[in-house]
Amino acid sequence: MNNYNTIVIGGGPAGLACAVKLHKNNVSCLIIEREQYLGGILKQCIHDGFGLQRFKEKLSGPEYAERFVNEVFELNIPFIVNAFVVSIEKKDGYTINVSTVEGIKTYTCENLVLATGCRERTSKQVEIHGSRPKGVYTAGAVQHLVNVDGVIPCKKCVILGSGDIGLIMARRLTLEGVKVEAVYEIMPNPSGLKRNIYQCLVDYDIPLYLSHTVKRTIGYPNLEAVEVMEVDEKLKPIEGTEKIIECDCLIVSVGLIPENELAGRIGVLSDARAKGARCDLDFETNVEHVYTCGNATHVNDLVDYVSESGEVVADAIRDRNDSERKLIDIEVKGRCAYLVPEMIDVNKKNNKRVMYFRSNKILKNATVTMKVDDKEILRRVYANLRPPEMERIVVDYPELSENSKVVFEIEEAK
Ligand SMILES: Cc1cc2nc3c(=O)[nH]c(=O)nc-3n(C[C@H](O)[C@H](O)[C@H](O)COP(=O)(O)OP(=O)(O)OC[C@H]3O[C@@H](n4cnc5c(N)ncnc54)[C@H](O)[C@@H]3O)c2cc1C
Repeated sequence: MNNYNTIVIGGGPAGLACAVKLHKNNVSCLIIEREQYLGGILKQCIHDGFGLQRFKEKLSGPEYAERFVNEVFELNIPFIVNAFVVSIEKKDGYTINVSTVEGIKTYTCENLVLATGCRERTSKQVEIHGSRPKGVYTAGAVQHLVNVDGVIPCKKCVILGSGDIGLIMARRLTLEGVKVEAVYEIMPNPSGLKRNIYQCLVDYDIPLYLSHTVKRTIGYPNLEAVEVMEVDEKLKPIEGTEKIIECDCLIVSVGLIPENELAGRIGVLSDARAKGARCDLDFETNVEHVYTCGNATHVNDLVDYVSESGEVVADAIRDRNDSERKLIDIEVKGRCAYLVPEMIDVNKKNNKRVMYFRSNKILKNATVTMKVDDKEILRRVYANLRPPEMERIVVDYPELSENSKVVFEIEEAK
């Protein structure tokens, strides 16, 4: 069978949770996954800390994924692996062209779920001068090498960026006998979760240098050292602060970007703040019947919320009717880095909706409000808001119209 009500692109935690819930909602679906196994990025995350919200247990990434993969098997939910979606056409619903070992296959569906996750920013996206030696990796690539392929790629490394994957790899490599010289972060504050700073660096005596960057790689064809420099408040390297650190590996952990190339080609708009596909409170994008969830929407720090967004999509597909959509934008003000979802379809029922946000600065006693036509419908005071920590809120919207003005604001304590 090549026709399904819904096709889910991506067999990570978002796509798996969505497919399981769709099946339970009696909606036929197919999961398409480009890798050999289902599970997404979790397959390589062998540390624990997954599933605390959902299962009240500390699971490793593969253990968390396994719970959903087992359900996919038990419920006989159709899936194909080693199958890369190369293009989508909007024709009789959606036509999905998939590259497989048997050649290009075509599937059709009424609803499409983009659960394609995110990808890492690379050394090309930060300014590092020098030759292009062997030994420069992204943190996720090293994680795959060590945890999946069983290969230790270096003896002495430097980590650029204090993102969570870099921090986790600092600990992992130390446990494997690699000397982690230091982590250098260009910003004045770490970009990873506080618990990872303590559990991965402080506990292992790995120094973290804030307001520092790697300016140059040295050595060819193999990396022999890197030049690090302090930066000023405009993030410009300060002359005279150069230091050469000998190492055979530079690990770049400078952030993740939602993977939305396929979506862009069918007219799905991305959000300038969250960088993922813009969506309404059902996680339906501006393109009808095309939904987004998980890291394709915004980079989550907890997998529990990734699964949650997949399930919101599954329920929305079950409840979808073909009434005309009327989308309005939510205005974002103050110290908000981003708010997801970004839009509201005023023709849908919008009570008790899950939303996620981050602040763009470390804030103490910050006030978060949501207003509809200047009337406050949500107010919450946070003792602490930190950009690396995503926050979840549930908003109960009143009936809205095309002319409603919805404003979300994070205010700093005076
Ligand atoms: C190193 C690291 C550590 C983490 N630590 C924690 C933690 O301790 N606790 C926690 O709760 N969360 C943690 N997270 C976050 C959590 O793991 C992620 O947020 C979550 O896995 C994202 O799920 P996803 O399904 O959106 O994306 P992914 O897991 O990336 O899955 C997307 C899938 O889509 C597939 N795909 C993409 N494009 C195509 C295509 N064109 N055709 C077919 N298939 C495609 C990919 O192959 C992939 O399998 C961590 C994440 C990372 C990277």
